[in-house]
Order: sequence, then C-alpha cells, then structure tokens
Amino acid sequence: MIGLISATAAGSAGCRRVASAWPGRTRVYEGPVGDAVRRAFAECEQLVCFLATGAVVRLVAPLLTDKTSDPGVVCVDEGGRFAVSLVGGHAGGANELAREVGDLLGAEPVVTTATDSVGLPGLDTLGYPVEGDVAGVSRAMLDGAPVVLAAELNWPLPPLRVVASGGEHTVRVTDRAVRPAEREVLLRPPSLVVGVGASKGAPADEVLALVEDSLRGAGLSVRSVAEFATVDAKRDEPGIVEAAARLGVPVVAHSASALAAVEVPNPSAAPLAAVGTPSVAEAAALVRGGELLVPKRKSAVRPAMATCAVVRRPARGRLAVVGLGPGARDLLTPRARDELRRASVLVGLDQYVDQIRDLLRPGTRVLESGLGAEEERARTAVAEARLGHAVALIGSGDAGVYAMASPALAEASDDIDVVGVPGVTAALAAGAILGAPLGHDHVSISLSDLHTPWEVIERRVRAAAGADLVVTFYNPRSRGRDWQLPKALALLAEHREPATPVGVVRNASRPDESSRVTTLAGLDPATVDMMTVVTVGNTATREIAGRMVTPRGYRWQEEPE
Ligand code: SAH
Repeated sequence: MIGLISATAAGSAGCRRVASAWPGRTRVYEGPVGDAVRRAFAECEQLVCFLATGAVVRLVAPLLTDKTSDPGVVCVDEGGRFAVSLVGGHAGGANELAREVGDLLGAEPVVTTATDSVGLPGLDTLGYPVEGDVAGVSRAMLDGAPVVLAAELNWPLPPLRVVASGGEHTVRVTDRAVRPAEREVLLRPPSLVVGVGASKGAPADEVLALVEDSLRGAGLSVRSVAEFATVDAKRDEPGIVEAAARLGVPVVAHSASALAAVEVPNPSAAPLAAVGTPSVAEAAALVRGGELLVPKRKSAVRPAMATCAVVRRPARGRLAVVGLGPGARDLLTPRARDELRRASVLVGLDQYVDQIRDLLRPGTRVLESGLGAEEERARTAVAEARLGHAVALIGSGDAGVYAMASPALAEASDDIDVVGVPGVTAALAAGAILGAPLGHDHVSISLSDLHTPWEVIERRVRAAAGADLVVTFYNPRSRGRDWQLPKALALLAEHREPATPVGVVRNASRPDESSRVTTLAGLDPATVDMMTVVTVGNTATREIAGRMVTPRGYRWQEEPE
C-alpha cells in the first residue's frame, strides 16, 4: 500500500490525482501531517508526501530503522515539478516510485543513488560512432539536466531520457557531415548504403576516393555508412573489398536478377552486357528501398573504373521478443536483461512489467495492458518498431511458448528487425523442481480451450497417450474451466498405470512456490490452478527418493553394459 500525505491545497490535488490513478494501491492519510506521516510509515510499504523534503526528513528521521525494511519515501514539491526519492531508493522501491509518480504528474523524478544514475546508457557505448562533447553531455545526462534530442532520423536507440527542447546540451542523431556544436554530441546511425560498381582490377584507392568524394559532395558523413552494396559478380573484386575494409564496413552482394528488377534513374548498357543488370551501383544501393541521395557517379580518373551511388535507407526498428523466465530474477537470462535495457519502448502484460520494472533504464516508455489484450499488445509492439524504435515485447517463461511471439510475428512485416530471447519455460522450471521428468521424449499441451476447440486438444492428448510421451499441461485449470484436466488425465490413464508419477508445480521459482509428486490415480484436480503446470510421466517414469525420474532410454536399463 502507498500512503499519500499532503498539507496544502496543491498537495491535496496531487494526492487525489495519484489516488484516482491507482485506486487499489493507495490510501490517503488525512489530519495533521506529523500524525499522518507516522501512521502511514507504520502501515504502508511506501509513502508519497506532498511536502517539502526538509519537513519529511524531520518527520521520518526518528522512525527510520534499516534500509532493508523501511518504507520507500517520495516527496513531491508544492509546484509538482519534482518527485524526489528520499529514502528507501532500492529496497523500499522509492526510486521506481519517484519515476512512476513523475510519469503520472508530469514531474521530473529525482534519483540520487549512484547505480540508478549509471543506469543511463553511456553515449559512447551505444554501438554507433559519436563525435563532439561526449563527456560534457554525458555529465549533463547524469546530472539530470535537460538534454535535447535532435533526431533527424528515427533510429532504434535505447532510452536517453532527453527532452524535446529547453536544454543547453544536445544529442543530435544525424548522418550529415556537420560538425558538432558546443555542448553537442553527434550520434551517427548506420543509415547510408553505398552502391558500388567496379571494372575488373579497379584500384581500391580509386573506389575509396570516389565514395568519399560522393559523400562529401552530398554533405554526408562517412561514419554513417552502413555497408557497400554490389552485384554478386563483384563481391570479391579486390578494389571494392579493400575500400570497404578501410572504411570498416561489410560488402553486401545481390544477384543480378534482383538488381535488374530495381527501377533506377540511370540504367546503362555496359553493366547489362558485363554482369546481367542495367545498373549496379544505383540498383544495389536501392534494392532494399530508401532515398537516393547521390545518383550514379563515375570516378574522376580516366578511364573511370568505378561507379557509386548513395542511398539513405529507411530506419529499421527493432523488436526484441523477450522471455522473462518463470519468475525468479536469477532465472532471467543476461541476454534478456540486456534487451530490456536496450529498448526505449517496453510492451507487456502489467504483471510481467512489474516483475522487471527495476531493470528498465530511466526514460523507457512502458506500454502495459491487462490480461486478454494480447492482439492489441502485439499490434502495438510491431507498430512502435515500425516507427523506428527499439521495442521489447515481454512474456513470462519463454515468450514464444503460448505467449506473445506468435501474434506479434504474425503482425510483423520484413521492414523491422526481430530478435528473440529464449526464456526458461514453465515446463523446464517445473522439471528441475520435480527431478528429471523430461529425460525422454515429451510434449507440452495447453488445456485452455479459449482459442482451441476441445476436440483438437483431446486428439492431441490421445496421441500423446498412445505415443507414451511425457506430457506437461499448461493452463491446466481455472475457475471457469474445471473438467478439462480430469478428462485429459482419464485419457492418459487409458494407456498408463494408476501409479504413474505426476508432478504438480505451482508458482515455480516464485516466492510461494510449491510442488509435489503424486500419481495419476492420486492427483486431486482441485489442487491445481492457473499458476500450475502438471507433468505426467510416461510408462517408464518412476518416483525415486521423492523425485520424478524418466529414464533416458529403455535399453540401457535392461541391458547394463
Ligand atoms: N510463456 C509461458 C507460458 C504461458 S501460458 C512459459 O513459457 O512458461 C500460462 C501457463 O503457464 C500457466 O497457466 C501455467 O500453467 C504455466 N506457468 C507459467 N509460469 C509458471 C510458473 N512459474 N509455475 C508454474 N506454472 C507456470
């Protein structure tokens, strides 16, 4: 519970806004503030005080005992401009609360604990070339000073927590050949594709001079070149390969037929005869779409042996589909953690967002929704990525197992990059708790007939029963769906002994985890709910020392070597 305390009219207006936004989470404490703060401190996990920090410091100081158990306290000033995390930043959740309150009230969250300050991504660690006052702008960001993001191009950057205007420092995202101004950092997104053609034996110096000259003439930065593009027949042409290597970019080759299909302003007969496409440089630069900034140019040397063209490719957003694992923080993979911190937009079910909120970088835009809004979440995540953002779409366990990956990828077109991060799915988390139930062939079956007709589910259960597969049931039982699990168990019992081991795991790896090994005949379905998975052994599965064990094979048991 969050206790809300105020003294003035402005403060109580703030109180009311928070209370109405989070009805179940908050309680308003009326009366003299000293009293109100003391009562809230005793009764709540967190406090939001619409009072001066000095007043709150004096009131809570005598009440503080230990940072692991004290409530988190946030102060909001009279003007509603700042939400200050005062005590209990980490364990008390005050840093996070300051951010949430800040979002809600349009106040700047003020977080002074060092680890949260360094939660900002270093400008020089983004993987893009940077120029300019990196130290000065980074310091301004860490100090919480407003830093303006001037993005000429949308690019999937992590959250930089920068403002649209009104700051002295600037982060400018540009591929143009400008010099950084004072107190400015230039971020160079890999937005330019250089199409290159070359006759046999064209020197690297000639290719490079042509490319650099073309970029210079168009006012473009060589540091934004993402790749050289050419035709298959030229992929190993030494002049192209070496020029690309000197710029540190890859050479990407396309088939002549793909290039021939690209409409270009300057086709010509020579390459058609030589390599089978009327355009190499322009077509290779344009083959994946984009805006032609420099039409085909030949090098100044005579006879010219190289051509080039420059295209600004459309920004490709990035959608990471991230499995959070079954619940415990240490079962969240480091890769999942990195992807959560790389995203500027996070999309997910509210209860899963709560699971990882503390890992998010300040400034991450969180789009959370309630149960059931799956299609909408999928669409939102894809739409945000198509705008060029770095998006993380989260799911518990593995995000591809009865979860968000399929609806999202069904929506996604090939104009975004998609990255999947596997997570520990419930069947595996449960298996590890039960022993080794999945030691031989196994299958997962969801008993939810919300989206799947029961006949289909039943056919699969029968098949698993007949094939002697170990079966893990997901979504086994809910208040409205209580006959499916007994029915499924009965189908398995047609092929398995009543004594077949059955593992029941509830809330695997979460604080209220519980598990037991019982039998097909002994399982009471009433003890199973939606937080549970049920794993039924095959005909060889045994309970050994209280653990469920499915042998690796049958032969080695019968014929020990
Ligand atoms: N994507 C998730 C599954 C989503 S379906 C995963 O890979 O685990 C939801 C069902 O998963 C629940 O009804 C329950 O059967 C199972 N489940 C998810 N997390 C669980 C956990 N920690 N403990 C037990 N069962 C769990």
